[in-house]
Amino acid sequence: MSAVETAGITKVNWLNKEGRPVMIAGPCSVETEEQMIQTAVRLKATGKVDILRGGIWKPRTRPGMFEGIGAKGLPWMQKAKELTGLPITVEVAKASHVELALEFGVDVLWVGARTTVNPFSVQEVADALRGVDIPVLVKNPINPDLALWLGGIERLQKVGIDKIGGIHRGFSNASEKVFRNRPQWQLAIDFKTAMPELPLINDPSHICGRRDLLSSVAQKAMDLDFDGLMIESHITPDEAWSDAKQQITPEVYGELISRLNIRKHGLAAEEKTKLDQLRKDIDLIDEELIHVLSSRMKVAREIGQYKKDHNLTILQSDRWMEVLAKFVEKANNNHLSEEFITKVIKAIHDESISQQEDIING
Ligand code: PEP
Ligand code: MN
Repeated sequence: MSAVETAGITKVNWLNKEGRPVMIAGPCSVETEEQMIQTAVRLKATGKVDILRGGIWKPRTRPGMFEGIGAKGLPWMQKAKELTGLPITVEVAKASHVELALEFGVDVLWVGARTTVNPFSVQEVADALRGVDIPVLVKNPINPDLALWLGGIERLQKVGIDKIGGIHRGFSNASEKVFRNRPQWQLAIDFKTAMPELPLINDPSHICGRRDLLSSVAQKAMDLDFDGLMIESHITPDEAWSDAKQQITPEVYGELISRLNIRKHGLAAEEKTKLDQLRKDIDLIDEELIHVLSSRMKVAREIGQYKKDHNLTILQSDRWMEVLAKFVEKANNNHLSEEFITKVIKAIHDESISQQEDIING
Protein backbone atom coordinates (compact mmCIF):
# COMPACT_ATOMS: atom_id res chain seq x y z
CA MET A 1 0.00 0.00 0.00
CA SER A 2 1.40 3.33 -0.99
CA ALA A 3 1.80 5.97 1.71
CA VAL A 4 -0.50 8.38 -0.02
CA GLU A 5 -4.24 7.96 -0.36
CA THR A 6 -5.92 9.39 -3.41
CA ALA A 7 -9.49 10.06 -4.38
CA GLY A 8 -9.10 7.77 -7.37
CA ILE A 9 -6.76 5.66 -9.34
CA THR A 10 -4.02 7.17 -11.41
CA LYS A 11 -2.01 5.30 -13.99
CA VAL A 12 -0.16 2.14 -13.03
CA ASN A 13 3.50 1.43 -13.84
CA TRP A 14 6.43 -0.41 -12.24
CA LEU A 15 7.04 2.37 -9.70
CA ASN A 16 3.46 3.12 -9.12
CA LYS A 17 1.91 -0.31 -8.85
CA GLU A 18 -1.29 0.85 -7.20
CA GLY A 19 -1.59 3.89 -9.37
CA ARG A 20 -0.78 6.22 -6.50
CA PRO A 21 2.07 8.70 -6.41
CA VAL A 22 5.25 7.35 -4.85
CA MET A 23 6.89 9.50 -2.20
CA ILE A 24 10.66 9.53 -1.79
CA ALA A 25 12.15 11.49 1.11
CA GLY A 26 15.39 11.73 3.04
CA PRO A 27 18.37 13.95 3.54
CA CYS A 28 20.23 15.68 0.73
CA SER A 29 23.39 14.16 2.22
CA VAL A 30 23.92 11.37 4.65
CA GLU A 31 26.05 13.08 7.32
CA THR A 32 26.19 10.93 10.46
CA GLU A 33 24.66 7.65 11.57
CA GLU A 34 22.49 9.48 14.10
CA GLN A 35 21.24 12.00 11.52
CA MET A 36 20.37 9.30 8.96
CA ILE A 37 18.65 7.00 11.43
CA GLN A 38 16.70 9.78 13.14
CA THR A 39 15.58 11.24 9.84
CA ALA A 40 14.51 7.82 8.61
CA VAL A 41 12.61 6.91 11.78
CA ARG A 42 10.81 10.24 11.93
CA LEU A 43 9.98 10.09 8.23
CA LYS A 44 8.57 6.59 8.69
CA ALA A 45 6.44 7.90 11.55
CA THR A 46 4.70 10.36 9.21
CA GLY A 47 3.32 7.38 7.25
CA LYS A 48 3.90 9.38 4.07
CA VAL A 49 7.10 7.85 2.71
CA ASP A 50 7.55 4.93 0.32
CA ILE A 51 11.31 5.13 -0.31
CA LEU A 52 14.14 6.67 1.73
CA ARG A 53 16.74 8.74 -0.09
CA GLY A 54 20.24 9.71 0.99
CA GLY A 55 23.14 11.34 -0.84
CA ILE A 56 26.35 9.38 -0.23
CA TRP A 57 28.53 10.92 -2.96
CA LYS A 58 27.73 14.58 -3.58
CA PRO A 59 28.56 16.36 -6.82
CA ARG A 60 29.32 19.85 -5.53
CA THR A 61 29.80 22.96 -7.58
CA ARG A 62 33.13 23.98 -6.02
CA PRO A 63 35.85 21.94 -4.34
CA GLY A 64 36.07 22.35 -0.61
CA MET A 65 32.33 21.97 -0.14
CA PHE A 66 31.11 18.80 1.60
CA GLU A 67 31.46 16.10 -1.04
CA GLY A 68 29.54 13.38 0.75
CA ILE A 69 30.40 10.96 3.51
CA GLY A 70 31.14 8.25 0.95
CA ALA A 71 30.87 4.49 1.39
CA LYS A 72 31.07 4.88 5.17
CA GLY A 73 27.44 6.07 5.09
CA LEU A 74 26.08 3.01 3.28
CA PRO A 75 25.81 0.80 6.41
CA TRP A 76 23.86 3.64 8.08
CA MET A 77 21.40 3.64 5.20
CA GLN A 78 21.19 -0.12 5.40
CA LYS A 79 20.37 0.21 9.08
CA ALA A 80 17.72 2.83 8.31
CA LYS A 81 16.20 0.37 5.86
CA GLU A 82 16.14 -2.41 8.47
CA LEU A 83 14.63 -0.18 11.15
CA THR A 84 11.89 1.29 8.96
CA GLY A 85 11.29 -1.49 6.48
CA LEU A 86 11.51 1.11 3.72
CA PRO A 87 13.52 0.60 0.53
CA ILE A 88 16.49 2.93 0.07
CA THR A 89 17.82 4.93 -2.87
CA VAL A 90 21.17 6.66 -3.49
CA GLU A 91 22.74 8.68 -6.30
CA VAL A 92 25.38 6.93 -8.39
CA ALA A 93 27.74 8.66 -10.80
CA LYS A 94 30.43 6.07 -11.49
CA ALA A 95 30.98 2.31 -11.68
CA SER A 96 32.50 2.18 -8.18
CA HIS A 97 29.36 3.84 -6.73
CA VAL A 98 27.18 1.24 -8.41
CA GLU A 99 29.26 -1.64 -7.05
CA LEU A 100 29.18 -0.29 -3.49
CA ALA A 101 25.48 0.53 -3.60
CA LEU A 102 24.67 -3.01 -4.77
CA GLU A 103 26.93 -4.47 -2.07
CA PHE A 104 25.00 -2.59 0.62
CA GLY A 105 21.53 -3.58 -0.52
CA VAL A 106 20.44 -0.29 -2.08
CA ASP A 107 17.04 -0.90 -3.70
CA VAL A 108 16.80 1.89 -6.25
CA LEU A 109 19.57 3.95 -7.86
CA TRP A 110 19.33 7.44 -9.24
CA VAL A 111 21.50 9.30 -11.69
CA GLY A 112 21.99 12.97 -10.78
CA ALA A 113 21.53 16.00 -13.01
CA ARG A 114 25.26 16.62 -13.26
CA THR A 115 25.78 13.04 -14.42
CA THR A 116 22.97 12.95 -16.98
CA VAL A 117 24.70 15.79 -18.86
CA ASN A 118 27.72 13.58 -19.47
CA PRO A 119 27.22 10.57 -21.78
CA PHE A 120 30.61 9.12 -20.74
CA SER A 121 29.48 9.00 -17.10
CA VAL A 122 26.01 7.64 -17.86
CA GLN A 123 27.61 4.96 -20.04
CA GLU A 124 29.99 4.04 -17.22
CA VAL A 125 27.05 3.64 -14.83
CA ALA A 126 25.12 1.67 -17.46
CA ASP A 127 28.07 -0.67 -18.12
CA ALA A 128 28.36 -1.37 -14.39
CA LEU A 129 24.67 -2.29 -14.38
CA ARG A 130 24.77 -4.77 -17.26
CA GLY A 131 22.90 -7.88 -16.16
CA VAL A 132 21.76 -6.33 -12.85
CA ASP A 133 18.07 -6.15 -12.01
CA ILE A 134 17.59 -2.87 -10.17
CA PRO A 135 15.35 0.14 -10.81
CA VAL A 136 17.07 3.36 -11.88
CA LEU A 137 15.69 6.89 -11.87
CA VAL A 138 17.34 9.42 -14.15
CA LYS A 139 17.26 13.11 -13.28
CA ASN A 140 16.97 15.61 -16.08
CA PRO A 141 20.29 17.14 -17.17
CA ILE A 142 21.05 20.58 -15.71
CA ASN A 143 20.41 22.20 -19.10
CA PRO A 144 17.00 21.98 -20.78
CA ASP A 145 17.94 19.33 -23.34
CA LEU A 146 15.28 16.66 -23.70
CA ALA A 147 17.37 14.53 -26.08
CA LEU A 148 20.20 14.33 -23.55
CA TRP A 149 17.76 13.20 -20.85
CA LEU A 150 16.21 10.57 -23.13
CA GLY A 151 19.69 9.53 -24.26
CA GLY A 152 20.66 8.79 -20.64
CA ILE A 153 17.59 6.58 -20.30
CA GLU A 154 18.30 4.78 -23.56
CA ARG A 155 21.84 3.95 -22.41
CA LEU A 156 20.35 2.18 -19.38
CA GLN A 157 17.68 0.45 -21.45
CA LYS A 158 20.37 -0.86 -23.78
CA VAL A 159 22.12 -2.74 -20.96
CA GLY A 160 18.85 -4.38 -19.95
CA ILE A 161 17.56 -2.15 -17.12
CA ASP A 162 13.81 -2.37 -17.49
CA LYS A 163 12.58 -0.45 -14.47
CA ILE A 164 13.48 3.11 -15.35
CA GLY A 165 11.92 6.44 -14.50
CA GLY A 166 12.66 10.12 -14.86
CA ILE A 167 13.07 12.77 -12.19
CA HIS A 168 12.23 16.33 -13.13
CA ARG A 169 14.43 18.58 -10.97
CA GLY A 170 14.35 21.76 -13.03
CA PHE A 171 16.93 23.44 -15.25
CA SER A 172 19.74 25.83 -14.52
CA ASN A 173 19.07 29.29 -15.94
CA ALA A 174 21.22 32.35 -15.23
CA SER A 175 18.26 34.74 -15.50
CA GLU A 176 16.04 32.79 -13.09
CA LYS A 177 15.22 34.77 -9.96
CA VAL A 178 12.59 32.74 -8.13
CA PHE A 179 13.63 29.11 -8.43
CA ARG A 180 16.99 27.49 -7.90
CA ASN A 181 16.30 25.52 -11.08
CA ARG A 182 13.56 26.73 -13.39
CA PRO A 183 10.88 24.01 -13.70
CA GLN A 184 10.11 24.43 -17.44
CA TRP A 185 7.06 22.20 -17.02
CA GLN A 186 6.54 21.89 -20.76
CA LEU A 187 9.82 20.01 -21.02
CA ALA A 188 8.64 17.54 -18.39
CA ILE A 189 5.44 17.10 -20.37
CA ASP A 190 7.54 16.51 -23.50
CA PHE A 191 9.37 13.79 -21.56
CA LYS A 192 6.04 12.08 -20.80
CA THR A 193 5.04 12.35 -24.45
CA ALA A 194 8.34 10.86 -25.61
CA MET A 195 8.33 8.01 -23.08
CA PRO A 196 4.72 7.55 -21.96
CA GLU A 197 5.33 4.16 -20.37
CA LEU A 198 7.97 5.54 -17.99
CA PRO A 199 7.08 6.96 -14.59
CA LEU A 200 8.13 10.55 -14.03
CA ILE A 201 8.54 11.99 -10.59
CA ASN A 202 9.16 15.54 -9.49
CA ASP A 203 11.86 16.90 -7.18
CA PRO A 204 10.47 20.13 -5.69
CA SER A 205 13.55 20.50 -3.43
CA HIS A 206 16.05 21.10 -6.21
CA ILE A 207 13.57 23.10 -8.28
CA CYS A 208 12.80 25.49 -5.42
CA GLY A 209 16.07 25.70 -3.48
CA ARG A 210 13.93 27.19 -0.68
CA ARG A 211 11.26 25.90 1.66
CA ASP A 212 8.41 28.32 1.05
CA LEU A 213 7.77 27.21 -2.53
CA LEU A 214 7.93 23.45 -2.00
CA SER A 215 4.25 22.78 -1.48
CA SER A 216 3.08 24.79 -4.48
CA VAL A 217 5.56 23.00 -6.76
CA ALA A 218 4.60 19.62 -5.29
CA GLN A 219 0.92 20.41 -5.87
CA LYS A 220 1.59 21.50 -9.43
CA ALA A 221 3.43 18.22 -10.06
CA MET A 222 0.46 16.27 -8.71
CA ASP A 223 -1.90 18.29 -10.90
CA LEU A 224 0.25 17.45 -13.91
CA ASP A 225 -0.16 13.76 -13.03
CA PHE A 226 3.43 13.07 -12.01
CA ASP A 227 3.99 9.59 -10.57
CA GLY A 228 5.61 10.76 -7.37
CA LEU A 229 7.81 13.22 -5.55
CA MET A 230 11.34 13.27 -4.18
CA ILE A 231 11.71 15.73 -1.30
CA GLU A 232 14.75 16.41 0.88
CA SER A 233 14.22 16.10 4.61
CA HIS A 234 16.63 16.55 7.53
CA ILE A 235 16.17 16.49 11.30
CA THR A 236 17.83 19.89 11.66
CA PRO A 237 17.59 21.47 8.20
CA ASP A 238 19.38 24.71 9.10
CA GLU A 239 22.42 22.73 10.13
CA ALA A 240 22.49 20.47 7.07
CA TRP A 241 25.90 20.06 5.45
CA SER A 242 24.40 20.57 1.98
CA ASP A 243 21.25 22.23 0.62
CA ALA A 244 20.29 23.59 4.06
CA LYS A 245 17.90 26.19 2.64
CA GLN A 246 15.63 23.69 0.90
CA GLN A 247 15.41 20.85 3.43
CA ILE A 248 12.48 20.40 5.80
CA THR A 249 11.99 18.35 8.96
CA PRO A 250 10.23 15.01 8.63
CA GLU A 251 7.19 16.47 10.40
CA VAL A 252 6.95 19.44 8.03
CA TYR A 253 7.34 16.96 5.19
CA GLY A 254 4.48 14.86 6.58
CA GLU A 255 2.26 17.96 6.76
CA LEU A 256 3.16 19.01 3.24
CA ILE A 257 2.23 15.61 1.80
CA SER A 258 -1.01 15.47 3.83
CA ARG A 259 -2.11 18.82 2.45
CA LEU A 260 -1.60 17.85 -1.19
CA ASN A 261 -4.72 17.48 -3.21
CA ILE A 262 -4.09 14.36 -5.23
CA ARG A 263 -6.65 14.43 -7.95
CA LYS A 264 -7.98 11.56 -10.00
CA HIS A 265 -6.44 10.58 -13.28
CA GLY A 266 -9.32 8.53 -14.67
CA LEU A 267 -12.73 10.00 -15.49
CA ALA A 268 -16.19 8.88 -14.39
CA ALA A 269 -18.86 8.69 -17.14
CA GLU A 270 -20.52 12.07 -16.47
CA GLU A 271 -17.13 13.75 -16.07
CA LYS A 272 -16.11 12.35 -19.42
CA THR A 273 -19.26 13.67 -21.11
CA LYS A 274 -18.75 17.16 -19.73
CA LEU A 275 -15.04 17.17 -20.58
CA ASP A 276 -15.71 15.86 -24.09
CA GLN A 277 -18.12 18.73 -24.64
CA LEU A 278 -15.57 21.31 -23.47
CA ARG A 279 -12.88 19.64 -25.54
CA LYS A 280 -15.08 19.96 -28.63
CA ASP A 281 -15.25 23.69 -27.95
CA ILE A 282 -11.47 23.78 -27.66
CA ASP A 283 -11.09 21.85 -30.93
CA LEU A 284 -13.27 24.40 -32.72
CA ILE A 285 -11.29 27.28 -31.28
CA ASP A 286 -8.05 25.55 -32.29
CA GLU A 287 -9.33 25.28 -35.85
CA GLU A 288 -10.12 28.97 -35.82
CA LEU A 289 -6.65 29.68 -34.46
CA ILE A 290 -5.03 27.83 -37.33
CA HIS A 291 -7.22 29.67 -39.80
CA VAL A 292 -6.41 33.05 -38.25
CA LEU A 293 -2.69 32.30 -38.16
CA SER A 294 -2.74 31.18 -41.76
CA SER A 295 -4.58 34.37 -42.83
CA ARG A 296 -2.09 36.49 -40.92
CA MET A 297 0.83 34.78 -42.68
CA LYS A 298 -0.84 35.32 -46.04
CA VAL A 299 -0.91 39.07 -45.40
CA ALA A 300 2.66 38.90 -44.09
CA ARG A 301 3.73 37.32 -47.39
CA GLU A 302 1.98 40.10 -49.31
CA ILE A 303 3.88 42.63 -47.23
CA GLY A 304 7.04 40.63 -47.99
CA GLN A 305 6.34 40.96 -51.70
CA TYR A 306 5.84 44.72 -51.31
CA LYS A 307 9.10 45.06 -49.36
CA LYS A 308 10.87 43.08 -52.07
CA ASP A 309 9.45 45.25 -54.85
CA HIS A 310 10.48 48.42 -53.01
CA ASN A 311 13.78 47.11 -51.65
CA LEU A 312 12.77 47.63 -48.01
CA THR A 313 14.24 45.82 -44.99
CA ILE A 314 12.21 42.94 -43.64
CA LEU A 315 12.37 44.11 -40.04
CA GLN A 316 10.80 47.48 -39.45
CA SER A 317 11.73 47.98 -35.78
CA ASP A 318 9.25 50.78 -34.99
CA ARG A 319 6.36 48.76 -36.35
CA TRP A 320 7.40 45.66 -34.40
CA MET A 321 7.62 47.61 -31.13
CA GLU A 322 4.17 49.01 -31.81
CA VAL A 323 2.73 45.51 -32.39
CA LEU A 324 4.36 44.15 -29.24
CA ALA A 325 3.07 47.01 -27.10
CA LYS A 326 -0.45 46.57 -28.50
CA PHE A 327 -0.43 42.87 -27.63
CA VAL A 328 0.82 43.46 -24.08
CA GLU A 329 -1.89 46.05 -23.52
CA LYS A 330 -4.60 43.75 -24.85
CA ALA A 331 -3.26 40.83 -22.81
CA ASN A 332 -3.73 42.85 -19.65
CA ASN A 333 -7.37 43.45 -20.52
CA ASN A 334 -8.08 39.82 -21.43
CA HIS A 335 -6.85 37.65 -18.55
CA LEU A 336 -3.68 36.70 -20.43
CA SER A 337 -0.30 37.02 -18.79
CA GLU A 338 2.18 39.42 -20.32
CA GLU A 339 4.81 36.66 -20.40
CA PHE A 340 2.53 34.33 -22.36
CA ILE A 341 1.37 36.88 -24.89
CA THR A 342 4.92 38.11 -25.46
CA LYS A 343 6.01 34.55 -26.24
CA VAL A 344 3.09 34.07 -28.64
CA ILE A 345 3.56 37.27 -30.59
CA LYS A 346 7.33 36.77 -30.75
CA ALA A 347 6.79 33.30 -32.22
CA ILE A 348 4.28 34.68 -34.74
CA HIS A 349 6.60 37.54 -35.67
CA ASP A 350 9.48 35.12 -36.10
CA GLU A 351 7.42 33.02 -38.50
CA SER A 352 6.31 36.15 -40.43
CA ILE A 353 9.95 37.15 -40.86
CA SER A 354 10.96 33.74 -42.12
CA GLN A 355 8.00 33.65 -44.55
CA GLN A 356 8.97 37.11 -45.81
CA GLU A 357 12.58 35.94 -46.17
CA ASP A 358 11.35 33.11 -48.39
CA ILE A 359 9.57 35.65 -50.60
CA ILE A 360 12.53 38.05 -50.74
CA ASN A 361 15.11 35.36 -51.40
CA GLY A 362 12.77 33.28 -53.55
C1 PEP B 1 20.44 15.58 -4.97
O1 PEP B 1 19.40 14.96 -5.24
O2 PEP B 1 20.85 15.74 -3.83
C2 PEP B 1 21.18 16.20 -6.07
C3 PEP B 1 22.49 16.34 -6.07
O3 PEP B 1 20.34 16.65 -7.01
P1 PEP B 1 20.58 17.10 -8.53
O4 PEP B 1 21.30 15.98 -9.20
O5 PEP B 1 19.19 17.29 -8.98
O6 PEP B 1 21.36 18.39 -8.49
MN1 MN C 1 20.41 18.19 -2.52
